[in-house]
Parts: sequence; structure tokens; C-alpha cells
Amino acid sequence: MALMYTEEQRELIELVRDVAESEIKPYVAAADEAGECPPELFKWGFDMGLHMVEIPEEFGGMGLDYETCAMMFEELAKVDAAYADTFVTNFVAFRNIHLSGTPEQARHFVEATNPGFAAFCLSEAGAGSDVASMRSTATRDGDHYVLNGTKTFITNGSIASIYVIFAKTDPAAGGKGITAFLVDAGTPGLYAGAREHKMGFRLSDTCEVVMENVRVHESAVIGCEGQGMSIALNALNLSRAFISTLGVGIMQRALDEAVSYAKQRKQFGKPIIEFQLVQGLLADMAIKVEASRCLVNNAMRMMDAGDLVRLEGAIVKTFVTDCMQEVTSNAVQVFGGYGYSKDYPVEKLMRDAKIFQIFEGTNQIQRTVIAKILDKSY
Ligand SMILES: Cc1cc2nc3c(=O)[nH]c(=O)nc-3n(C[C@H](O)[C@H](O)[C@H](O)COP(=O)(O)OP(=O)(O)OC[C@H]3O[C@@H](n4cnc5c(N)ncnc54)[C@H](O)[C@@H]3O)c2cc1C
Repeated sequence: MALMYTEEQRELIELVRDVAESEIKPYVAAADEAGECPPELFKWGFDMGLHMVEIPEEFGGMGLDYETCAMMFEELAKVDAAYADTFVTNFVAFRNIHLSGTPEQARHFVEATNPGFAAFCLSEAGAGSDVASMRSTATRDGDHYVLNGTKTFITNGSIASIYVIFAKTDPAAGGKGITAFLVDAGTPGLYAGAREHKMGFRLSDTCEVVMENVRVHESAVIGCEGQGMSIALNALNLSRAFISTLGVGIMQRALDEAVSYAKQRKQFGKPIIEFQLVQGLLADMAIKVEASRCLVNNAMRMMDAGDLVRLEGAIVKTFVTDCMQEVTSNAVQVFGGYGYSKDYPVEKLMRDAKIFQIFEGTNQIQRTVIAKILDKSY
């Protein structure tokens, strides 16, 4: 794959690699243990412009293509995918505005996040896969709406400076009664609730977002009333494909660590990489990393050509994130008992990998999406 990088891509990848290795990696183990990322660590990401890479130049961003952005975030994810996801979530939120909002909303989003973070608030305690059953409401009051409800598992929930929030303007209409809003942090009644204590992905902030009589002007509506569900799903198709690049980063790191360990660890008088069964573990890992990267790159190119990757987003997300479980587990296996120890890096990769089968729509839901599209196209 390296031969396919352009000179500019190679330079950006090297920049991210150098900063991630020297400025972020030394602090990751302590932050993982503490369950939060020190705010000063984000300075490096902001200095590199990671929060602006995907934002089009017309709105003040760097306007890089998806393929190049994905390569940069794969590199960062090798050091810590949760750190990378803190920045990537800005784009999960922004894509809703870019695809369905107004230029004024896009400019406002960029002002709020330069530098800063955004959050995408869809899930609720009783409405995860079944988004249409959400209970948050947005009630019209003159030229304003009043938002009430609690969102669950929100990435960047306590550190965001702007929120994309979904709530029902017509509760009787089910999924067709959901509307999307762009809401500034600090709006009275909007606050972060309980934080999640997670098994992995611990540098990523995950918490409830509570709305108590949050008044927003009607200009905060993204698209039109009742379009929220399709706005979210359109943006999520792109986000599912994009998030998979973090998965490739985790897998590549697992493979690199496993090969290096297998070459230096000796048992029965020789390096364990000389045992065919260990070679099999490593080869299976390499096959899945390479296949995953090819799928991600293909999806990114389709997105760069304007495709909404409805089918491909679900396919790449499911394939890559399922591969992640085997690849990171194999890495632990190659390390033997040391792989299970927090003194070595691979147990964290295995913990971080699990969430990828769950967020951005579980892999069971992705399979139902894929099957529904197949059903309609034959
Ligand atoms: C760390 C983390 C970060 C997150 N970040 C965000 C965020 O930023 N914004 C946001 O809005 N949400 C976020 N989420 C929420 C995430 O998207 C949901 O957890 C996910 O969609 C699943 O919903 P659920 O947890 O309620 O599980 P459920 O929907 O209750 O699912 C439970 C199980 O049932 C299966 N299942 C459910 N329905 C079906 C079906 N029809 N067919 C087959 N199987 C089914 C699921 O696949 C799963 O295995 C995050 C979650 C986590 C853990």
C-alpha cells in the first residue's frame, strides 16, 4: 500500500506519526488507567489541525479528501484510537450539517470547533439500535423550540463546544417525527450527565447529555422538521466507513507488536516466530489488516467521488470491526501470558477493539441493513 501514497499523503502521515509517537504515546498508558485524556494532550491534535482536516476550505477548514484524512487517522489510531476518535467525532457531527444543513450552520460549527470538539447526540437509554423509539422532545414555542430529554453514551459529551441533537417534534410520528438541531454548549439547561466507566477506549469522553427546557431558535433546525432520522442515517453511512480506518490502525499496531515480539521471544531454544502455528496466527492477522485497509481505501475513494456509501459503509464497518476482534486476540495469543498483562501493549488493543462492533450501529444492525439493500436490489 505504501507505494500508492502521494508525496503529500506521505508527508502528512509522517507528521502525524512523529507527533503521535513523541508527544502522545508516552502518556497513553496513564490516561488509559485514569480513564480520561488530559486536556493538554489535545493541544497536539489541534496544532496539527486534526479537528479541521475534513472541513471544506470554504468554511475555513483544511479541505483534505477523505482518503488522506483516513490515512492520517489510521496513523494516529496506532497510538490511541480513542484519542483519534475524539477528533473524528467532530466530523461525525459535521457531516449532518454538510449534507443537510445551511452554509451559515457550517460556518457556525467551524467557529465553535476551531479549536474545540463536537458531539453527535442520537442514542438514548431506551433507544439504541431502535433510534425511532427515542423519547427526547422538541416542542415549538413561537419561533423557538424547547428541548427535553437525556442522551446516552455520547462521545465528547462533556467536552464539546457544539452539539448535534436529535429530538422528536412529532412524537406520534415515530421515526418520521425526529428533527435534528445544532445547539451550542452553554445554552441554559444543556449539561453533561453521568460519565461511563468503560472497559476500553478510555481516552474517549463518553457520558450522558441532559436537556432540561433547552430553548433554541428555529434557525438551529438542521434540514426540516421530521427529517432527523434520514439526516442521521445519511451522515452515519459515511461515518461508519470512516471510523473503520481507526480499526485498521489498531490492527496494524497489533500486527507490528506481535511480529516484533515473536522475533525476540524464545521458547524451545528458538524465536517463537519459527513455529508454524505462530506463523499462521501472524499470517492470518496480516491478511485481515491488508484486506481491511483495501476496503477502507475503496470506500474513501467512493466518498471522495460523492457516493453516500449506504451499502459499502455497512459492509466495510462490519468486515473491518469483526476482523479487529480476531487480529487483536491473536496478538494477545502471540504474547502468551504477557499478552494478558497490562505491562504489555496488546491487551489494551483488544479492549479498545470491542467497541467498534457496537457503536455507529451494531454489527447485527449493519447485517440487517446489508440484507435489506440486497433484498431490494435483486
Ligand atoms: C463508547 C461508546 C460511544 C458511543 N458514542 C455515541 C455517540 O457519540 N453518539 C450516539 O448517539 N451514540 C453513541 N453510542 C451509542 C451506540 O451507538 C449504541 O450503544 C449502539 O447503537 C447500540 O445501542 P444499545 O447499546 O442500546 O444496544 P441495543 O440496541 O439494546 O442492542 C443490544 C443487542 O441487541 C442487538 N439488536 C438490537 N436490535 C436488533 C435487531 N433488530 N436485530 C438484531 N439484533 C439486534 C444488538 O446488535 C446488540 O447486540 C456510543 C456507545 C458507546 C459504548
